Amino acid sequence: MTEGHRVFSRMEVVRIREEWARSGGADCPRCEQALLVERIEPNPQVSYVRRRHWLLCPSCGKSALLETPRGS
Ligand SMILES: [Zn+2]
Repeated sequence: MTEGHRVFSRMEVVRIREEWARSGGADCPRCEQALLVERIEPNPQVSYVRRRHWLLCPSCGKSALLETPRGS
């Protein structure tokens, strides 16, 4: 494996983001497996204004990085 992380396509990310925003959880568009969610703590050396979450499918191993608006 030299390609690093496999990622969802842009359209898949859109679907995941919408489902996640609506229900607080999301399934893999391919496997219909619940995605694992890991919060990414902001790097204090970079002034991120958004919190970020890493969503990973335990089945196919694809992942997506989502940002959530501040205060949500
Ligand atoms: Zn999957």
